[in-house]
Amino acid sequence: MDNNKEKSNNNSINWKELEEKWKSRWKEEHLFEADYDNTNKKKYFITVAFPYPNSPQHIGHGRTYSLADVHARYMRMKGYNVLFPMGFHYTGTPILAMSKRVIAEDQDLIETFKNLYNVPENTIKSFTEPENIAKFFHNEIKLGMQDMGYSIDWRREFTTIDNLYSKFITWQFKTLAKKGLIVQGSHPVGWCPYDKNPVSQHDTIGDVEPEFSEYILIKFRLAENDVILPTATLRPETIFGVTNLWVNPDIEYLIIDVDNNTEQWIVTKEASIKLEFLNHRIKINKTIKGNELIGKFATDIIRNINIPILPAKFVKTDTGTGIVMSVPGHAPYDFQALIDLKKETNLLSFNIDLSQINPIKIIEIQYANSNDNILISSVEDAILKFEINNQSDLGLERATNDIYHLEYYQGKMLPNTGKYSGMDVQLAKEEIKNYLLATKNLAEIFYEFVNKPIKCRCGNECFVRVLNDQWFINYKDKEWKRQVHNYIDELSILPEDLRQEFHNVVDWLKERACARKSGLGTKLPWDHEWIIESLSDSVIYMAYYIISKFVNEEKYSMKKSLNNIDESFFDYILLGIGNVHDVAKKCNLSISISLIQEIRNEFIYFYPVDSRHSGRDLVPNHLSFFLFNHVAIFEKKFWPHQIVVNGSVLMEGKKMSKSIGNIIPLRTAIQEYGADTIRLAILISSELLQDADFSFDTARSIRLKLLEFYNISRHLLNSNFYNKISNSNLSLDESLYLDLSTKDYPLELEDRWLISKLQRLINNVTKSMETLRIREALHNILYVFDQDIHWYKKRINAKKRGNDNIVNKILVFCFSIRIKLLSPFAPFISEEIWNSLGNQSSLVSSKWPSVFNEKIDPLSEESDEFIKRLTFDILNIIKVTKKLPRKIYIYCSSSDKQKIYQKILKIITLTNERNFGNTMKELIQDPETSFAKKDPSFVKKTVEDILSESIESRNNRLKLSSFDEISIIKDSQNLISNEIESENIPIIIYSEEEKDKFDPKSKSRFSRPYKPAIYLE
Ligand SMILES: [Zn+2]
Repeated sequence: MDNNKEKSNNNSINWKELEEKWKSRWKEEHLFEADYDNTNKKKYFITVAFPYPNSPQHIGHGRTYSLADVHARYMRMKGYNVLFPMGFHYTGTPILAMSKRVIAEDQDLIETFKNLYNVPENTIKSFTEPENIAKFFHNEIKLGMQDMGYSIDWRREFTTIDNLYSKFITWQFKTLAKKGLIVQGSHPVGWCPYDKNPVSQHDTIGDVEPEFSEYILIKFRLAENDVILPTATLRPETIFGVTNLWVNPDIEYLIIDVDNNTEQWIVTKEASIKLEFLNHRIKINKTIKGNELIGKFATDIIRNINIPILPAKFVKTDTGTGIVMSVPGHAPYDFQALIDLKKETNLLSFNIDLSQINPIKIIEIQYANSNDNILISSVEDAILKFEINNQSDLGLERATNDIYHLEYYQGKMLPNTGKYSGMDVQLAKEEIKNYLLATKNLAEIFYEFVNKPIKCRCGNECFVRVLNDQWFINYKDKEWKRQVHNYIDELSILPEDLRQEFHNVVDWLKERACARKSGLGTKLPWDHEWIIESLSDSVIYMAYYIISKFVNEEKYSMKKSLNNIDESFFDYILLGIGNVHDVAKKCNLSISISLIQEIRNEFIYFYPVDSRHSGRDLVPNHLSFFLFNHVAIFEKKFWPHQIVVNGSVLMEGKKMSKSIGNIIPLRTAIQEYGADTIRLAILISSELLQDADFSFDTARSIRLKLLEFYNISRHLLNSNFYNKISNSNLSLDESLYLDLSTKDYPLELEDRWLISKLQRLINNVTKSMETLRIREALHNILYVFDQDIHWYKKRINAKKRGNDNIVNKILVFCFSIRIKLLSPFAPFISEEIWNSLGNQSSLVSSKWPSVFNEKIDPLSEESDEFIKRLTFDILNIIKVTKKLPRKIYIYCSSSDKQKIYQKILKIITLTNERNFGNTMKELIQDPETSFAKKDPSFVKKTVEDILSESIESRNNRLKLSSFDEISIIKDSQNLISNEIESENIPIIIYSEEEKDKFDPKSKSRFSRPYKPAIYLE
């Protein structure tokens, strides 16, 4: 079956052998190694977020790295000295947590190691030591990257726990501290109570960045005994619209003593835990059922009124305090809960007149201008828009968001809000918040995750904790933020859509905890109890790739001097501070002056990073910190030039996850399909930000496509022509253009057409590559040009030129160019083919094809289009009349009509005139075309004809001094016959002007330039 066929096809390429051959050739020839170049060759420095070695890479990881590799290979072919290095990120707690689980003999983890990652059992035993885990997967990932053919300069590899790297991070932190950007204080962080450590994206299950919001806890009081009923809200300004409190009658609440018995509060058990993490001292007093609170009254001491406590099911134990202040006039949940309650009123056992409880409007929406698309302007509208039926409706979340945004940005406080009346909601919110917090017994601050639950990799649920005496990087610094905003405006960001997202992140970033009590990494220089965490020690490491080469290469013998290296070394290398003699002295003369200077020169040469690649999940943390830290530490000329962000990878349309079992290690996939196929299958399904969808069907069809390319090369090898080339030592490079333009080879129209189309291909692919529109580029290379080759073959067959030398030469040439274009994407098969075609040097160092504008041939392109349309029109007439004609008559337009056409084309293209009257006037004014007034209908149709053409085609036609339709048709007569599948029908061609033409139906007068009239007999 299909399977067998594929198997036998696949057998004709031994992928494994081919990959090994090229991997070792690249290595032997040092093709990926980049050094300082004193001839001033332009450099290009590409980096990707380095991997965290706690598992092997899977197909999903392959996307970012493959994309960066394609980019690196492309830039190399564009003539740049490309540096593409790689390091390994050991820092942090996850590896430590894993080794703890191995010690605890966690079967789930051990099974994963054994079955999913194929780790040998003895090796698993060694995983009780965290560094062994890192080393094992480090090696595994590196082999995978080599198998994928990534063009990495491995001489620069390092890990973040290397001795000198730690010194570098120490230097980074001292530099930040000198600038006042490290602060110690009390700030909220995501927290794992088990590990007793702050958590960030790297530490959480599913790699979720913990995000939390600041709530205002407003203290209502039980009217009967003053016990506090705290409610958490993001909208303190709505306090004037509170009509009641909600509690869930089925929940058990706690009555707790807070902060040494100064106050008694009623909250849920979950809330009391959260309060403890926010540094409140809590003692549980007793429990109380929600039911017992229903029907009682609470005092609002701000407005000094009593409001009833009512039941609502939407109130959850794990949200806020479990008690909600109800603002039905501005909160969709409250509005709906009130409606629900009024419906069930006969079931209620308390004695409150619900008809007295109605939404209170305290905010009015102001429309900035009348063009605003008014979808909703009130809670009632939102309830209708999202078709909400009850308080469990999922649409309430979105309704709440919509109302929140609308009122926040366009709301004004109404007169029933006292001194806040007339104020913008944004301002009122701030003022009311400050007023409430100024008095301790009115309100407090409360933090909660907005994307909960957040689970630590150790399996425990995380909380927001206010940490005292913790070390933070102060991303809240206003001046720092301002500089980063300005920088983002100048930075190249691909895709462009993300620019605003970066600005938003910069706006909301606050102090960030930068150290932990445990894990691998570098100690905080001034407080050795703390270890710098993983999203803080990985923001300027690209600079370290310059230094690591000198450490790794034996010939510099730097390893023995590492202990002597002092911070002045980094000051000099990275900032140019001090002088090289003093630096050498400070390092106890263990490094020579010339070596220090060499490192500095290489740094100046390669820095800044020209392109930084990463996945989208790193926008809110790593990529933004990367910008912040470069701005703080380096001179402006060393700030990175570009950020490239890509989306994630789905497996057969589904998210990859261990529970679905669809995680495929990269190396397993390569063994089965070959590296080129995997690279293309990951890259071809989407542009940058979209999710890529990896599927095995795509992989199989790509493998067949690559095999087809391979077979074409075998075919060309067997052709006589190929022997001629290889005998004469002709290179199959751009020199062929010169070769093809010699007078020995008179090119036919179709030859010029294909070469012209090839220029278009090169142009389109190059344009796509410049903005990394990879999918578009690949489609053009792999599929679109196939159609042109196919058509070319039809045209040469119609002329019986099958074995023509020129034809073969052109086909080899086009094929060679295509292989070059393909090579950054599928490097292995491309090298193999390129080499088999007689090219000695590797594609890695070959030149990216350039467009030869003089080879773009408007005449051949327009005549090809002309023939295609004419054939199509003839076929259409045959289809309508439902019988084959005896003869075909074609009438081409008169030279007068051509004159008018050319004049109108000029008017439209150069002056953009579209008005028929004006065009007619201009034609009549010109004595050359004044006769146009006799045939207004022709002029009108011609204007329509031209406007319906593509701009490219209009420009082409403008360039043509003449377009001899009759000889073009004669040249393609056989082709037209072939296309209508009858060689026996004579085709007779007339000019409209010919006196004795056969024209029984007077068709010729309908002919127009590029649109001959047709008569079928
Ligand atoms: Zn944990």
